[in-house]
Amino acid sequence: METKQFKAESKRILDMMIHSIYTHHEIFLRELISNASDAIDKIYYKALTDEALTFDKDSYYIKVAADKENRTLKIIDTGIGMTKEEMENNLGTIAKSGSLAFKSENELKDGYDIIGQFGVGFYSAFMVADTVTVISKALGSNEAYKWESEGADGYTIAPCEKDSVGTEIILTIKENTEDENYDEFLEEYRLKSIIKKYSDFIRYPIKMDVTSR
Ligand code: ADP
Ligand code: MG
Repeated sequence: METKQFKAESKRILDMMIHSIYTHHEIFLRELISNASDAIDKIYYKALTDEALTFDKDSYYIKVAADKENRTLKIIDTGIGMTKEEMENNLGTIAKSGSLAFKSENELKDGYDIIGQFGVGFYSAFMVADTVTVISKALGSNEAYKWESEGADGYTIAPCEKDSVGTEIILTIKENTEDENYDEFLEEYRLKSIIKKYSDFIRYPIKMDVTSR
């Protein structure tokens, strides 16, 4: 297992996320579903040009699964997946930090919801999760890797088992505080309404699987 540090700019974004003054925590789901959809797009376009690959629409989907007992929320996709290098390069850095530039230019106005307006992507998961785990197997690869981070201290990456190509994001949802409710992100009705609100246009099926009592 290797432990690595985030790049400096990523640290700043992460800090913004973790000590988020933003109210719209719910948008993390929009960001993760949009990444899942992008990953399926990539395998779809590859299938268009690669005769060895067929795209059977039914086997491409996004699945959201909450487990209240374990406080986990999974976002699973059957997209193109990530190699170890791609995990390091894409999850360990902020690819497009438009929102960071925007923030420094326009110092935060009271309650102005920058994150709500700009996609900040993957790191928004840390607004609601103590630990973010990513298990992925890339198309054309025999190996799967597990990337894990508790936030600003960096991340670990290690080989793991995964049968099918695609990505599984596992969020360990934060405990409620006096001011913030995180339990809601484990509730089926709440997740459904967030998906309806932000991800209605996604062209792949979004399945829900809730293990609750
Ligand atoms: P953006 O989507 O704007 O590129 P993100 O922070 O949302 O930025 O995601 C960073 C990158 O991580 C993506 O561009 C992609 O390469 C990779 N990534 C994130 N989630 C997934 C996923 N579910 N499947 C494959 N790659 C992913
Ligand atoms: Mg994204």
